[in-house]
Amino acid sequence: MKKPVSDNSKIIDGKLISSKITEEIKKELKSHINIKPGLALILVGNNPASEIYVKMKEKKCAELGYYSIVNRLSEKITEQELLAHIRAYNNNSKIHGILIQLPLPKHINEMNVLEAVDYRKDVDGFHPVNAGRLMIGEKCFTPCTPAGIHELLIRYNVETSGKNAVVIGRSNIVGKPIANILLQKQKGANCTVTVAHSATEKLTDITRKADIIIAAIGQPEFLKGSMVKEGCVIIDVGINRVEDSSLLKGYKVVGDVEYKSCYKKASLITPVPGGVGPMTIAMLMKNTLDSALKKVYHQ
Ligand code: NDP
Repeated sequence: MKKPVSDNSKIIDGKLISSKITEEIKKELKSHINIKPGLALILVGNNPASEIYVKMKEKKCAELGYYSIVNRLSEKITEQELLAHIRAYNNNSKIHGILIQLPLPKHINEMNVLEAVDYRKDVDGFHPVNAGRLMIGEKCFTPCTPAGIHELLIRYNVETSGKNAVVIGRSNIVGKPIANILLQKQKGANCTVTVAHSATEKLTDITRKADIIIAAIGQPEFLKGSMVKEGCVIIDVGINRVEDSSLLKGYKVVGDVEYKSCYKKASLITPVPGGVGPMTIAMLMKNTLDSALKKVYHQ
């Protein structure tokens, strides 16, 4: 029996675009041989997921020839001790980017920590200066996942200007920054933006009018095909582990979008894995390079 031919023309391939970005970074580095971007990764405690994310970032730094430091700190560290580590990286001229892997242990005030990072080295884009500059459309470090989504929209030539974009989720990490990006008068944006959240009423009425949907909810397969209109563009940010006894590892990773039903309706859609996920690290590397090249802030 012949295998069914799969139609990949609808898929926004984040893996492919992220590897293109990696190649572009390598090329740019070749024309700046005296520059070695440096990234400090701070990991507090033993969260297994955080450990995986930090290892992936460290690996990417090695691939690109960046200087990287992984500072693994005890979960018992005090806030003051952690702030002292950050201040040391702020003053270290070999370090151009500082990343605090979240979440932090409960006894540490996350905002105090994020604010302690020199905003000119805040390659994660979480410092209030960068969040504020993003909102008013000024040059800044943009949070990596939303920056990756924006890059995908641009590189796939998605028509965005004047379109209805619905962002589901209002976190500071994904929902709010991507809503701000899409609102700006710029390439891959200039949308009419609606931000939905857990208190939103009649969500389906809103999503059915959307030309572009960004799902950043944290609920497995939340967005169904019946909730979207024909021809829309769907960006699935979600990464959720769900039990699957048919697999050796006992689980599978799914997004916030019910892929099968949404795929049928969408004109373009990101898969999970292989969509937004790989873009996050690529944009972190790009932000770190831009910091080393002083493209964002002239220090
Ligand atoms: P948060 O939990 O911080 O935010 C989730 C948002 O979804 C909240 O604003 C919440 O509303 C909203 N929400 C929850 N339930 C509903 C509902 N029933 N209807 C409408 N809105 C709802 O998650 P994050 O933004 O940090 O992450 C979202 C997803 O993206 C997760 O799956 C996460 O794993 C993934 N992620 C992926 C990354 C990547 O690199 N690909 C990076 C970061 C996150 P309210 O504010 O009212 O609570």
